[in-house]
Amino acid sequence: MSSPAAGRLPRPLVDCHVHLFPDRLFDAIWRQFVTDYGWKVLHQLYWRECLAHLRERGVGTVVYSNYAHRSGIARGLNDWNLGVLAADPSLFCFAAFHPDDEDCLAMAEELLTHPRILGFKLQLLVQRFPPDDPRLYPLYELVMAKGKRLLLHVGTGPVGNEFVGVLPFRRLLARYPDLPAIVAHMGALEYGAFGDLLPDHPNLLLDTAFAFLPSLGAVCDLSPEFLERWRDRILYGSDFPNILFTREEEIDTLLGMDLSPEFYAAVFRDNGLRLSRGTSRTGGQAPHDAITS
Ligand SMILES: [Zn+2]
Repeated sequence: MSSPAAGRLPRPLVDCHVHLFPDRLFDAIWRQFVTDYGWKVLHQLYWRECLAHLRERGVGTVVYSNYAHRSGIARGLNDWNLGVLAADPSLFCFAAFHPDDEDCLAMAEELLTHPRILGFKLQLLVQRFPPDDPRLYPLYELVMAKGKRLLLHVGTGPVGNEFVGVLPFRRLLARYPDLPAIVAHMGALEYGAFGDLLPDHPNLLLDTAFAFLPSLGAVCDLSPEFLERWRDRILYGSDFPNILFTREEEIDTLLGMDLSPEFYAAVFRDNGLRLSRGTSRTGGQAPHDAITS
């Protein structure tokens, strides 16, 4: 962040899309990224080092997540999450859930009593069930009843399968139009189709993680007018440490779009603070008029 434009960022930043896993699971995930995508993760840092790296670079509040890539591991991950949350009071978490686990709903209900567990992360590409799988309905209803939220990897980036994409997500919203969910990665790679859902679904948010990295070859193609109009529904997230390019590249790309000071304040701080306080479920923020030039 050497550009003078970096002065337009609020300090400290709130990063709403960070991954923290136990060390051995991180090792396995980094190996899997090479196998599945040919991706060598840039920062192979374990959780304490991740937080140190971010904090040295102006990040304050961190919202992290992890997910259960198969049944039988969510409880262990969540026990680990409780320990990590206890060790660092400025952390917030989207916890792990797998619908095939025995007592998964009882576990979920107990976890949601924790003030810094914001809800659950579902990584549908990896977990291999669709967002409208009826086994998830009780989870969604519990999350809504408790005023919590979901973080969903439900887009077709970096690759798709039959479980992700805007079509299965639209089926889910037909059943739960007020679902309080964050669509990770701006809905990559169907940015426009996911963006089109915002007006009718006031509790949907988008996060920027992995969506503004020109080196990747595919950048979010939503217009600056769209980003301004919906700036109160967009959360900054880095996807750290599981990125292939520096987190500064995403920040510089967004700064290079020369959006309003209000955009940078909302996306890089204020929306994340509302999320962490559990006050972002207010029927959604009204859109701002697009900036005209
Ligand atoms: Zn991620």
